[in-house]
Amino acid sequence: MEREANPLDFDAVIVGAGFSGLYMLHRLRQLDFSVRVLEEADDVGGTWYWNRYPGARCDIATVDYTFGFDPELERTWQWSEKYATQPEILRYAQHVAERYDLRRDIRFGARVAAARWDAAAERWHVQTKRGERYCCRHLIMASGCLSQPKALDIQGMDRFKGQVYFTSRWPHQPVDFSGQRVAVIGTGSSGIQSIPLIAKQAKQLTVFQRTPNFSIPASNGPVRPERRAPLEENRAAYRHAARVSRFGVPCEPTQVLGTYATPEVQRERFEAAWQEGELISFINIFADSLVSLESNALIAGRIHDKIRAIVEDPVTAELLCPKDHPVGSKRLCVDTDYYATYNQPHVRLVDLRQTPLETLAETGIQVAGETLPFDAIVFATGFDAMTGAIVSVDITGRDGISLKDKWTDGPHTYLGLTTAGFPNFFMITGPGSPSVLSNMMVSIEQHVEWIADCLARMRADFMTTIEPTTTAEAGWGAHVDDCAQITLYPQANSWYMGSNVPGKPRVFLPYVGGVDMYKKACDEVVARDYLGFQRRGPRASRTVDGVIRDLQPDVSMVLDLLGTLNLPEIESLPVEQARALYKQLAANRPAGPRLGEITEGALPGADGPLPYRLYRPTTPGPHPVVAYFHGGGWVLGDLEADDPLCRDLCKRSDALIVSIDYRRAPEARFPAAAEDAYAAVKWLAKHAADLGGEPGMLAVAGWSAGGNIAAVSCQLARDLGGPHILGQVLLTPVTDYDLSRPSYVENADGYLLTAPLMRWFWEHYADTGTRSDHRCSPLRAASLSGLPPACVVVCQFDPLRDEGVAYANALQDAGVPTRLIFGRGQTHSSITMVDVVVSGAKYRAEMASALRDFFGNGERDSAELPAVSAP
Ligand SMILES: Cc1cc2nc3c(=O)[nH]c(=O)nc-3n(C[C@H](O)[C@H](O)[C@H](O)COP(=O)(O)OP(=O)(O)OC[C@H]3O[C@@H](n4cnc5c(N)ncnc54)[C@H](O)[C@@H]3O)c2cc1C
Repeated sequence: MEREANPLDFDAVIVGAGFSGLYMLHRLRQLDFSVRVLEEADDVGGTWYWNRYPGARCDIATVDYTFGFDPELERTWQWSEKYATQPEILRYAQHVAERYDLRRDIRFGARVAAARWDAAAERWHVQTKRGERYCCRHLIMASGCLSQPKALDIQGMDRFKGQVYFTSRWPHQPVDFSGQRVAVIGTGSSGIQSIPLIAKQAKQLTVFQRTPNFSIPASNGPVRPERRAPLEENRAAYRHAARVSRFGVPCEPTQVLGTYATPEVQRERFEAAWQEGELISFINIFADSLVSLESNALIAGRIHDKIRAIVEDPVTAELLCPKDHPVGSKRLCVDTDYYATYNQPHVRLVDLRQTPLETLAETGIQVAGETLPFDAIVFATGFDAMTGAIVSVDITGRDGISLKDKWTDGPHTYLGLTTAGFPNFFMITGPGSPSVLSNMMVSIEQHVEWIADCLARMRADFMTTIEPTTTAEAGWGAHVDDCAQITLYPQANSWYMGSNVPGKPRVFLPYVGGVDMYKKACDEVVARDYLGFQRRGPRASRTVDGVIRDLQPDVSMVLDLLGTLNLPEIESLPVEQARALYKQLAANRPAGPRLGEITEGALPGADGPLPYRLYRPTTPGPHPVVAYFHGGGWVLGDLEADDPLCRDLCKRSDALIVSIDYRRAPEARFPAAAEDAYAAVKWLAKHAADLGGEPGMLAVAGWSAGGNIAAVSCQLARDLGGPHILGQVLLTPVTDYDLSRPSYVENADGYLLTAPLMRWFWEHYADTGTRSDHRCSPLRAASLSGLPPACVVVCQFDPLRDEGVAYANALQDAGVPTRLIFGRGQTHSSITMVDVVVSGAKYRAEMASALRDFFGNGERDSAELPAVSAP
C-alpha cells in the first residue's frame, strides 16, 4: 500500500484537535483507517485550549455539553457545575484524549497552511506552516467555527505600550489586574463573561461597547438534581432525545404563541425562563419568539425592564438595553453579575456609537479627541466565525479552484459537510449546518458519525472519491436561506451573518432548520443512495443527482403534521363529510390580523341571495373594493374557509374585501358559481358607496376555484357590458379542464391538492361536455384581449401550476398587463395559510401590492417584498 511506502500518507488527515478532531480521530481509528491530526496548539481542547480568559465557561449546561457517544466515557466523568469553567472543560478534553490514547496520532504545533487536491493520485497534499508535508485520501476540517480570531481594524495597535490581551488567545500564566486601569473592548459573550471578574481585580475598568447584547443570568451552581435526573434515569433515551431535538438539548417545544398569550402567561413564562438561566428555555418562552417580531418584542421589553431594575444609573442602563436587534437573533449571552457590575463606582461604560474609538495611543485609547489612560487593554472582539478557519488555509480543489475564491460571495456547501469541486473534502460543523445554533457536542457527534459512515461505505463499495453535485449544493444553499428568511435572525448584524467582519459577504451562515430536521436530511441523503453526490472508483462510478429539500421549510412542516393525522382522502368521502373535514381542518388555525370591522350581509346572486362577509381596514374610508371568491373546488369552502386570507389581504391592500359565498356544486353545478360571481361583481360595482367603498374602484380576487370564477367574472364583465374591473388577482387558479399538463403528473400526490381530488372536483362541478366552455375553462376563451390587468400566482408544487402559467402567458400574449409570480417551494394551498406558513407572506404582500397598483395606489412596503422569481 502507498501509505506503507510513504509514512506521511494517510487515509485521512484531520485539521484540528478540539472536540471535533478528537472524536473524528477516535471514530476513524475504530474503523481501521490510518489517520493523522494536525493541530496548531500544543495540546488538545480547541476552544477550551485557547479561550482561557477569566470567566470563560460554556453556555449550554454541561449535562448536555458533553460527549454522549460512549456510555463508558460518561461514567468516568462528573461535571462540578451547571456551567463548567474553561479549565474543567479543557481537563475533560484531555481526559477524552487520554482515555482513547489519541495524542499518539496528533501532531501539535502544526498549523496547516495549504492543501491541494491531486486528481491523478486522488490525494490531498497538505502542508503545514513549518513545512511538513502530508498526503491523504480524505481531508477533514475540524478547524472550529469560533477558532479564527477576527482581524482587528483598530488604528495604532502597535503604539500602545501597556499590556494587550485577547480573550481568544489568553496567556497560559495567570493574569493579575490588581491596581491596574483596564479597558475591555467588546461586549459579546467573552466580554460579558470576563467583565465581572476583571472588575473584581482592576482599580478601574472601562468597557467600550459598540452594540449591547441580550444576556440572561446563568444561575450557576451545582447541577440541580432534577436537571440531572432524566439523564441518570435513562441515559440512552436522554442522549437520543438531544439528537432529535431542535437545538441539541432535550426540550419539549412550547405551543404558546407570544401575542396570543395572556399578559399573565407571558409574565410567568418569561420569569420561569429568566430564573432557570438556560438559552434553550429562553428561546422556548414562546413558539414564535424567533419568527414574530411582536412576540419577540414582548421578551425584549421584559429584559430591558430587568436591566433597568439592576443598573442604578439610568443612562448606563439605557446604553445596555439592546434595541437594534430581536432577542436571540444574535447569540444570547449567559452571565454572572454582568449588569450589576456597572453599579460599581470604578466601572464605566463608553458607548462607541456616540464616541467612536479613534486610535490607540501610547498610554491608552483615544475617543472623541481625549486619551483615556490604561495599563492594560483586553480585546473581546470575537471571531471570523464559521468560515474564517477554513478559508485561512489555502485550499485548492479540482481544476485548480481555490476555496477562498469559490466562497467570495459566501460559503457554498452541501449539508455544511462538503463543497462541490473539492473531492474527499469534509467539514465538521461547516457553514450550512446547525453548528453554532445548536449544542455543538451533538452536532459534532452527528457530523463525525456521518463522515465516518460515508468513508466506510466508500471503502466497502470500492469508491475512491466523493463530491457533491452543483445541483445538490445550490438546492441546499437555497434551503438554508429559506429557513433563515422565515425567522428574525437575518434582521441582526450578527456574526451569524458575517456582519462583524468588514468585507465579509452578508449571508446567514448556520442552518436554522434545527438539529432534528438537519439530521433527517443527512440520513435521507444516505438512504437515497447518497443523493446529491457523485462517487467514483476503479470499478464503478455512481452519481445520484438531485435536491434533498425543495419545499419551503414551513410548508414541509405543515405537510408533515397533516401526514401524522392520517386523514382520509377527501375524494373518498361523501360531499357533506368532505365539507365537515375541510371545516375541521380550518378550525384550529390562527385567526389572521385584526381589522377595523368585519360585517356580514347578503347580496343578490344569479338565483337568489348570497351571503357575504365584508372586511374593512382600520384606515379611514372610502376604500377601493375587492370581490373575493374562496377556494374549495366549487364544492367545499365557505365564508369561514378563507377568512384569515381575506383579513390579511384587507390589511395589506387597505381595501374593502367582500368575500362572497357563491353557490356550490354538486347542488348547483356549472354555470351557477360563475354566474353568481358575475352577479356579485355587478352588484358590488353598483353599491360600493353603500358599503363604504369608493365607486369605480373595483377589482376581483380568488384562490383556486375562486380564482377560476374571478377570472370568468372578468371575461363576462368584458363581454356583457360591464362593470369596469380594474384588476384581477388569481391565486393558483383553475383555468383549464385539461388534467394532463406536467404539473399534474409531477405533483399528482403529496401536496394536499392531489390529481384525484381535482378530478373529483371537476366531476362535481361540470359535465365533460361543458368543461371547454370559457366560463368553466377561462383559458379556452376565444380572446383574452381587453381583460383587466392581472396578477397570477402559481406554486411550484401544485397540480394547477402549469395551467396558471398558461393563463398568465395567454393574457400577456393578448396584450393584458400581467404579472406572473412563482411561489418557489410552495403548494396549492400554502400561501393561504396566514401566520402558519411564514414563507407565504411575501406572496400575499405581492398580491396586495398588485391590488394597490390596480387602484393607482401602488406604494409598497419594500421591507416586506423580497424579489419573487418567475418560473
Ligand atoms: C468562549 C466560547 C464558549 C463556547 N461555549 C459553547 C457552549 O457552551 N456550547 C456550545 O455548544 N458551544 C460553545 N462554543 C463553541 C465551541 O467552539 C464548540 O462547542 C466546540 O468546542 C468546537 O469544537 P471544534 O473541535 O469543532 O472546534 P475548536 O474547539 O475551535 O477546535 C478547532 C481546532 O482547530 C485548530 N485549527 C484551526 N485551524 C487550524 C489549522 N489551519 N491548522 C491546524 N490547526 C488548526 C485550532 O487551533 C483548534 O484547536 C463556545 C465557543 C467559545 C469561543
